[in-house]
Amino acid sequence: MGISAAQRALYGHLQQVIPDHRVLQAFLQVKREQFVPRQFRGDAYEDHPLPIGHGQTISQPTTALLMTSFLQVREGQKILEIGTGSGYQAAILAEIIGPKGKIITVEFDKTLVTFARKNLQHYKQVQVIHGDGSLGYPKEAPYDRIIVTAACPTIPDHLLKQLKHDGILLAPVGDLAVQTMTRMKKGQEPESLGQFVFVPLQGKYGFS
Ligand code: SAH
Repeated sequence: MGISAAQRALYGHLQQVIPDHRVLQAFLQVKREQFVPRQFRGDAYEDHPLPIGHGQTISQPTTALLMTSFLQVREGQKILEIGTGSGYQAAILAEIIGPKGKIITVEFDKTLVTFARKNLQHYKQVQVIHGDGSLGYPKEAPYDRIIVTAACPTIPDHLLKQLKHDGILLAPVGDLAVQTMTRMKKGQEPESLGQFVFVPLQGKYGFS
């Protein structure tokens, strides 16, 4: 596998903060430069978010990998992602679930749906849906895991219904300035996993 010096340098940093070997492997397997607009390719392995158009961003690498680690992803699982953006997070998840798993990822913005479908074309287990992901995606429920990659104004309790009995839901919850990464399981108290900043969730259960 060809790894650039920039990717290797970022990998060195990620090894200090990501406790999970499988997640670090996925980072090496996905080329982030293929998920950013051409003019930002040189910055793909800087540890910060980058613009992907339409006021949206691809998440910071540390954030995407920490979320993957918090989500406790296993081979063969069925995952719902809300907020496809560039498709980078979905690609990381796809590397871990493998060809027998399935990812449904929902994106609100039509142009980003097209961008993400192109970026994810080699991942046959990933399906990009255009729609309001704040509603979840009941048609394919139940899921082993649900990950929301946009800021939620309230704890999205309604999405718990779309989880399997022992499933895990992860979402940044807060106001527009800062959110608390929140991990939820059916019938349990939510857990707080640190402060993050995401672009706002839109749609019925979003900010607008
Ligand atoms: N996971 C992405 C980053 C997400 S940025 C990546 O790896 O690149 C948040 C995304 O959520 C944006 O693309 C935004 O358009 C989308 N979004 C916002 N509200 C949404 C909604 N209600 N349903 C689906 N997608 C939504």
